Amino acid sequence: MFSKILVANRGEVAVRIIRACKEMGIETVAVYSEADRNSLPVALADERICIGGNAAADSYLNQKNIISAALATHAEAIHPGYGFLSENVDFARLCEENGIVFIGPRSEVISAMGDKDASRQLMQQVGVPVVTGTEILKDVEEAKKLAESIGYPLLVKATAGGGGKGIRVVEREEDLEEAFHTASREAASAFGNGDVFLEKYLTHVRHVEMQVLADYEGNILCLGERDCSLQLNKQKVLEETPSPVMTEEIRQGMMEAAIKAAKAANYTNAGTVEFLLAPDGQFYFIEMNTRLQVEHPITEEISGVDIVKWQIRIACQVPLDLKQEDIQLKGHAMECRINARSIGKVDFLHIPGGGRVHFDTALIQNCEVVPYYDSMLGKLIIHANTREDAIRKMEAALCEMVIVGVETNVEDQLKLVRSDAFHQGEYDTLILPDILNKRG
Ligand code: ADP
Ligand code: ADP
Ligand code: MG
Repeated sequence: MFSKILVANRGEVAVRIIRACKEMGIETVAVYSEADRNSLPVALADERICIGGNAAADSYLNQKNIISAALATHAEAIHPGYGFLSENVDFARLCEENGIVFIGPRSEVISAMGDKDASRQLMQQVGVPVVTGTEILKDVEEAKKLAESIGYPLLVKATAGGGGKGIRVVEREEDLEEAFHTASREAASAFGNGDVFLEKYLTHVRHVEMQVLADYEGNILCLGERDCSLQLNKQKVLEETPSPVMTEEIRQGMMEAAIKAAKAANYTNAGTVEFLLAPDGQFYFIEMNTRLQVEHPITEEISGVDIVKWQIRIACQVPLDLKQEDIQLKGHAMECRINARSIGKVDFLHIPGGGRVHFDTALIQNCEVVPYYDSMLGKLIIHANTREDAIRKMEAALCEMVIVGVETNVEDQLKLVRSDAFHQGEYDTLILPDILNKRG
């Protein structure tokens, strides 16, 4: 096993990875920007190195400084977490060239699957259904021509996009040109690649994704689905597993498609295959996230499998010692993403507790919420025997949460958890704004 791992991330996910390492007897190195000097992961790690200024480009995206920090501290592996460099082919390659293990798939797998256009093509080759769409477009003229055959509404999507960035909905032809340029520009500045393609915009669909784990011996496990349909601006807000609309038949089909995708890509490590599920039970591949997913803890709750520890073991060439038949998914789990709506000092903090309730966060009393990065403060995660119990438990936990000093979305989460649509399990990817705008 590795004796030392560098954690190339910040916030709650850095804490999550450091905890896994501690439980495995592995030493940790935290890297941080100046703004994060006094943060929890920096305090928890065995060693710490400042890698640059506050802007992500100067620190958490600064490949050279991160590699130098790993070499200087003799870390054998780097865990990239999610976001930042986690799906960056150049960074994975740079690790490989420097004899450092990148905890994730090999760089060539990231380029085949981490890219939306390339992965769509691979999925079509192996017979996994994708949403009707195009390949990368040369220019707006080509986009206009191909848009006619797809029909409106459609999406302009950046092949390198992520976290809801680089996507534009286009309702009418006259808006296509502007959407094309804004999606492309946004992706070029956030991900260094402005290539875009078109996809049919499906309505009344749910976002349902499958968690996979694959080792270097060709063993692939699927840990079931997560329903992430509750979104604002194409960003996930509340996730649950199992999906309230899942049938055993759809689950089997989707699991087979996810395993087929992983096999076709020669995938290793943890990955997530995202699908849109239509009311008629048909599902369509949209993308694969070749990294740890934000909402991975709900799968850990119902499967009992520690995904981060398996990421580390697999990267160290340890074969999976579990078989698909051993995986039993028990009970119902939910996650509420708690986001900041302002910056400032956390003057008082009370984190809800109790059985099967936990808050994955880097918040501590008197810490400073800074404006430079993702606004997610933490993830409130609960597990119960039934969906009904899970909803009650989440409501109680949200009521108990106290964060004084910064504005948060806790009230919105409460409104969502109390809504009829959520109680009935009847929701799609577009419903959340309506739920939040309702009086009451
Ligand atoms: P997931 O697909 O794991 O559920 P999301 O789709 O919400 O995660 O976001 C994709 C990734 O982009 C996440 O790793 C998220 O942290 C990251 N991300 C989103 N917005 C930002 C941001 N403003 N700064 C840095 N990372 C971001
Ligand atoms: P990202 O990399 O930003 O996560 P995705 O391709 O996963 O991009 O899309 C983000 C969200 O946008 C999805 O979860 C879904 O709600 C919506 N979406 C994506 N593609 C489509 C589509 N073809 N039709 C309808 N909604 C879509
Ligand atoms: Mg996605």
